[in-house]
Amino acid sequence: MTPKKVRKSALRKPAAKAARRARAIPVKKARAAAGPAPRGEGLPLLRRLSEACGVSGDETAVREIIREALKGKIKTSKVDALGNLLVTCRTRGKPRMRVMVAAHMDEVGMVLMQAGSDGLWKFETVGGVNEQALPGKPVWIGKNRTPGVIGVKPVHLTEKDECEHPIKKDALTIDIGAKDKEGATAALKAGDRAAFATAFHAERGVILGKALDDRLGVAALIELALDPPPGIELVAAFTTQEEIGLRGAQVAAYALNPKAAFVLDTTPAADMPMWDGGENTAYNTKLGGGPAIYIFDRGTISDARLVRLLRDAAGKRGVPYQIRQPGSGGTDAGAIHLARAGIPSVSVSIPCRSLHGPVSTARLSDWRAVIALVRGALEDLGRRGLP
Ligand SMILES: [Zn+2]
Repeated sequence: MTPKKVRKSALRKPAAKAARRARAIPVKKARAAAGPAPRGEGLPLLRRLSEACGVSGDETAVREIIREALKGKIKTSKVDALGNLLVTCRTRGKPRMRVMVAAHMDEVGMVLMQAGSDGLWKFETVGGVNEQALPGKPVWIGKNRTPGVIGVKPVHLTEKDECEHPIKKDALTIDIGAKDKEGATAALKAGDRAAFATAFHAERGVILGKALDDRLGVAALIELALDPPPGIELVAAFTTQEEIGLRGAQVAAYALNPKAAFVLDTTPAADMPMWDGGENTAYNTKLGGGPAIYIFDRGTISDARLVRLLRDAAGKRGVPYQIRQPGSGGTDAGAIHLARAGIPSVSVSIPCRSLHGPVSTARLSDWRAVIALVRGALEDLGRRGLP
């Protein structure tokens, strides 16, 4: 359905309303919402995580950064058969229950399939990648991060009618500048992953980078693991292969056997204007609107008690939040809540624009508020159990 065009004055109204609302938040509450300063390395760690390459099935580089960040500060950790990093955090007091908090390490990307005699690599996409976003994008390939580009015909040589049709993925190749097949396979092999080559950038509370889905969740989970709330046994699951079917989370939930689970992920903030310039009234989340609590998505109906717990924790602590509006997509909760005899689960996500593309944007305030919100909910869970 195409939304109706709206008058300019009508477009201005919601913006003015939002500005009034933003001004109405008391300074003290706004500070509390931002959460305490990170205990980990904060932005430098986010940069390392974002710039690491961890396309599904090859999450090693991300896992190593997490292990290093947690070294000596946790109780135990192990890497399971699917590559999940499962961490048992230090407990304070006698824990009431075991709670799993999950964040996925993998990202969408490409995998090399076959080198041609022209030195160009055919590839497959891994996870949900918008093929129209691929042409001309730089990539890092394999463990040595060999630079390459998803080759595209220059505009000088493109016929007018070619421009009118979307470029098919099968017509694209990854070019590392090799002159023949031998050159293409000298440093790379079929199966090597290619990730978007994007430098991380943070300024004025805005974050730009690749793989914010779900390195923002990973960084938030590291923060929680470094300072676990009292009253619960926190098990942190840094999962693999979420983007291709929640596979790591499925076995992690079975192994950890928690009494409840929280999933920290990112969610698309489709809050930009409509393509025809009309007002977007169908956004699912908004950047800067705080953590997005899921009531349901395509794969999960969140446990109502955990949703209530999160909303109460937010209200008590003055943390802003938004309810994620229905749309496609899902999180690791889709696999976790069905593990064993069923595990009460809920997802809390950081809104990001342009997810699954070469660069996404997010707000630092949303990321810090997710940590504050989930920490608060875990504290309450340790104190009172499930509401
Ligand atoms: Zn994700």
